[in-house]
Amino acid sequence: MTEAFTYTALPSRVVFGSGTLARIPEELRALGCGRALVLSTPEQKDAAAAVASRIGDLCAGTFTQAAMHTPVEVTERAMKLVREIDADCTVAIGGGSTTGLGKAIALRANLPQIVVPTTYAGSEATPILGETQDGRKTTQRSAKVLPEVIIYDVDLTLTLPPSLSATSGINAIAHAVEALYTQDANPVISMMAERGIEAMARALPPIMKNPADKAARSDALFGAWLCGMCLGAVGMALHHKLCHTLGGSFNLPHAETHTVVLPHAVAYNAPAAPDAMARVAHALGASNAAQGLFDLAKSLGAPTALGEIGMREIDLDRAAEIATVSPYWNPRPLDRAGIRALLDDAFHGRPPRSA
Ligand code: NAD
Repeated sequence: MTEAFTYTALPSRVVFGSGTLARIPEELRALGCGRALVLSTPEQKDAAAAVASRIGDLCAGTFTQAAMHTPVEVTERAMKLVREIDADCTVAIGGGSTTGLGKAIALRANLPQIVVPTTYAGSEATPILGETQDGRKTTQRSAKVLPEVIIYDVDLTLTLPPSLSATSGINAIAHAVEALYTQDANPVISMMAERGIEAMARALPPIMKNPADKAARSDALFGAWLCGMCLGAVGMALHHKLCHTLGGSFNLPHAETHTVVLPHAVAYNAPAAPDAMARVAHALGASNAAQGLFDLAKSLGAPTALGEIGMREIDLDRAAEIATVSPYWNPRPLDRAGIRALLDDAFHGRPPRSA
């Protein structure tokens, strides 16, 4: 029986394939734009330059200072350039950090966005923007920041290092896992979630062996889009809240934090969400969801301990407190001692408890 549900589809245009970077000029013209500001991180400035030269006269400038967690001070510098060059849209090439900058500009200047993702973070498919100022991260949802066009070019992901591919891929899986047990779960998104987990979990092992495996890379990128759609369409729960706390308050790296925490957050929620757990396990080809996620991370050589990625043991009590102080929806009620125990397991890299 199909249960009652509510589903709001988000408008976005997706161009997916190999060599699709060549489609940017026609997509810019379709948007009616001719003065694009091309965005990237400093590490990907060559990719930004390649886009700028490809779009020629349609490029009004480049800004290559995008940074993790979208610092407002960087956005303000980019906004100055937006005004100086009279940009009428942005083209963001990179991971979630660069996409975040495009969204922050869209929030302030209402410019349409073309996003060319080169990681699996999924931000391009969401109306969510997280920004940091004075060490505080705030997150908002606004239709204004949802990118108009996503161009997925598998070729651009071939350079994503295996370690980042693994953690970014598990970051994507986390969106789909929480979508399966969230309070506003619905059958359309759940379908995408299962398919997204399955595609990503199947693609990552061959990518570790051969990062230039195009078939696996295209499955991973398709999985990333499906998982990003999950994050954009429904609310998240404990796992995303914990990662937000750890990233925002303790400055831990984004994708790695997701990778370490996910099996433990899933183990915590398992007793309250048996149907979702069965679906996650099935998509992973495992007998237990939490253990399956832990085993996947281990098999990819990804970090499995918060201690390995910069967390200090003395901060665990404060992390548990921050993550439980303001109540939010979760399938299993939050209790401080349970969350503290979860963080302890995650800190030491122990297997998840339900296993
Ligand atoms: P990132 O964008 O910071 O990229 C990490 C590094 O890898 C950067 O130096 C980048 O230039 C480099 N890189 C990216 N693609 C590459 C490639 N193909 N080849 C070589 N190097 C490459 O990392 P991320 O994990 O994609 O994004 C993290 C950020 O995105 C965080 O700030 C997070 O909060 C945000 N995020 C937001 C949402 C949302 O919906 N708002 C969703 C997911 C992530």
